[in-house]
Amino acid sequence: MSKMEVKTSLLDNMIGVGDMVLLEPLNEDSFIENLRKRFDHNEIYTYIGSVVISMNPYRALPIFTPDKVEEYRNRNFYELSPHIYALADEAYRSLRDQDKDQCILITGESGAGKTEASKLVMSYVAAVCGKGQEVNKVKEQLLQSNPVLEAFGNAKTVRNDNSSRFGKYMDIEFDFKGDPLGGVISNYLLEKSRVVKQPRGERNFHIFYQLLSGASEDTLKKLKLDRDFSKYNYLSLDSAVVNGLDDAASFRTVRNAMQIVGFMEDEVQSVLELVAAVLKLGNIEFKPESRVNGFDESRVKDKNDLKEMCELLGIEQSVLERAFSFRTVEAKMEKAYYARDALAKNLYSRMFSWLVNRINESIKAQTKTRKKVMGVLDIYGFEIFEDNSFEQFIINYCNEKLQQIFIELTLREEQEEYVREGIEWTNIDYFNNAIICDLIENNTNGILAMLDEECLRPGTVTDETFLDKLNTICAEHQHFESRLSKNQKFLTDHSLPHSCFRIQHYAGKVLYRVEGFVDKNNDLLYRDLSQAMYKANHSLMKALFPEGNPAKVNLKRPPTAGCQFKASVATLMKNLQTKNPNYIRCIKPNDKKAAHIFTESLVCHQARYLGLMENVRVRRAGYAFRQAYEPCLERYKMLCKQTWPHWRGPARQGVEVLLNDLQVPAEEFAYGRSKIFIRNPRTLFTLEERRRQ
Ligand code: ATP
Ligand code: MG
Repeated sequence: MSKMEVKTSLLDNMIGVGDMVLLEPLNEDSFIENLRKRFDHNEIYTYIGSVVISMNPYRALPIFTPDKVEEYRNRNFYELSPHIYALADEAYRSLRDQDKDQCILITGESGAGKTEASKLVMSYVAAVCGKGQEVNKVKEQLLQSNPVLEAFGNAKTVRNDNSSRFGKYMDIEFDFKGDPLGGVISNYLLEKSRVVKQPRGERNFHIFYQLLSGASEDTLKKLKLDRDFSKYNYLSLDSAVVNGLDDAASFRTVRNAMQIVGFMEDEVQSVLELVAAVLKLGNIEFKPESRVNGFDESRVKDKNDLKEMCELLGIEQSVLERAFSFRTVEAKMEKAYYARDALAKNLYSRMFSWLVNRINESIKAQTKTRKKVMGVLDIYGFEIFEDNSFEQFIINYCNEKLQQIFIELTLREEQEEYVREGIEWTNIDYFNNAIICDLIENNTNGILAMLDEECLRPGTVTDETFLDKLNTICAEHQHFESRLSKNQKFLTDHSLPHSCFRIQHYAGKVLYRVEGFVDKNNDLLYRDLSQAMYKANHSLMKALFPEGNPAKVNLKRPPTAGCQFKASVATLMKNLQTKNPNYIRCIKPNDKKAAHIFTESLVCHQARYLGLMENVRVRRAGYAFRQAYEPCLERYKMLCKQTWPHWRGPARQGVEVLLNDLQVPAEEFAYGRSKIFIRNPRTLFTLEERRRQ
């Protein structure tokens, strides 16, 4: 029997090796082969110690049933075959019984299964935590916030038919008994450019299609909408209908979910009016008009959509029309379209933030008692496209930070466990991506700081002047703390295409095109437009554009998009650091969105940039395996006369007696305060084999 086929210890009837830490020999090939073997047998979960690797099966597997929930409930982590439920159970019990706040960090690229994983964790916890009318209502509201946010924040992309276009972090709060009290959701940077334009083969946010397909005739009439997608400029047509997505049915689900979460009927109506207004806005076209009061102007071409939009929102038509008229000498038309799209993007993304706040109002805990918290983070994965812009830059920055916290916390946790258990710690060499984080976020010479400086600088500012600045300053970047400071992460070479810069991210090199960086970071809306929106006779619309209030015209310039994002990521990291982390590393087996296909090169690439091998090495650096004395004795006591059938005394002593009796070399073990540490996986295999004899 080859080493890899050895049944792994604690887990009987295992396919491949359930915990990569026990993989022998350990190298990239055996690592990938083990994943493949398990995947082929529908074993989509594999551990690296307490980290769960999750492969997307791209089909419904019968492993998420209520029976499975019961099976994993209150069992020790290693007792059953690897499962996301085991992680959820461990996290929940540790929160409930040991009073430790938890966070579940889910990472992986687009389509790898992060959102599905986050829902599995939530539904598992909902199934095992307290019951009762009040508690059930809280659970139901927490779970139903998902379809609402997905309708407004997810879209079909080439990588994923239900791709999250925003980052989400949800704190679920529990009382001392472990019953859920409520929750708080934070959202990160919705990809709002999608509202006005979608890449080929992709769609706008689901809600647009859902509304048009699923709303009653009566509702559509009230919203002045036509069921036909092709009537709307903002809806791409080449992929409007997606196999396997039933937009009409989803619309009913979303309406129902909104009701359960606690939206009032008139609030739902207001939201749908804004969705309709965005579609109308996209249909407004402009034409040049000469000689208006002696000036050339851009003017609205066909006024019907403008009129209907104004009726929907209670805006005086002439006010909006005026706001869209530009008299500058050049680029009048371009400016008018730019203003229109900027308004649509802002309207939609502000509405999205409002939805999140509104959901928070409903789900927030009603009591002031001290709470225990489980945070679930489902954030967009690392993105490398052909064309990478500001959005990818921001997303990848966030992933660098998560990788950083992963490194910090895994190592810290490992180190702390050794200290706690009184075992000597040996240092481990690993790649620390702090240098890349610093390159992006350093307050004086980081890329975001350069961008802000450029955006706020008087004079002519363009994407090119920003790039010049980067090329002069960042090319010199060195991070004083990093051992790798000599290793450049901002890559300049003469082969770079025009208007681009390149960063060596931990997950690979990414080429960014600077076009749009300044604009997207500024994220400014023409004041006339904010004012027109504020004047709307529509309370939600008014609330979304507070800066349009003439009494507040002197408000300070809002912080730039980059600055806001950096601040919210910093808050998130701080929050995560106070919690006990649980990791789910999602992997996409192929890029066809298909079941049964395992594309080795793709999996290998992901395993590399997720640093999974490194993770295994850290886990194995000292002692590959550890287990509390009680379960260890329980499992192996049959191998020794003195401990079988009962050991009367402390478990630790029992384990000592057992190991002496079995004549396992002393250097193979370390006795921690509460756990036995085993250096080599082979030792464990031997024990297991003896058990079976
Ligand atoms: P993005 O970053 O684009 O939001 P993601 O990592 O959140 O991607 P998901 O939306 O969770 O990816 O998964 C993509 C699709 O893969 C799902 O819509 C579903 O079809 C399938 N999938 C993911 N996980 C599972 C699972 N455990 N069982 C069955 N199908 C799954
Ligand atoms: Mg997702």
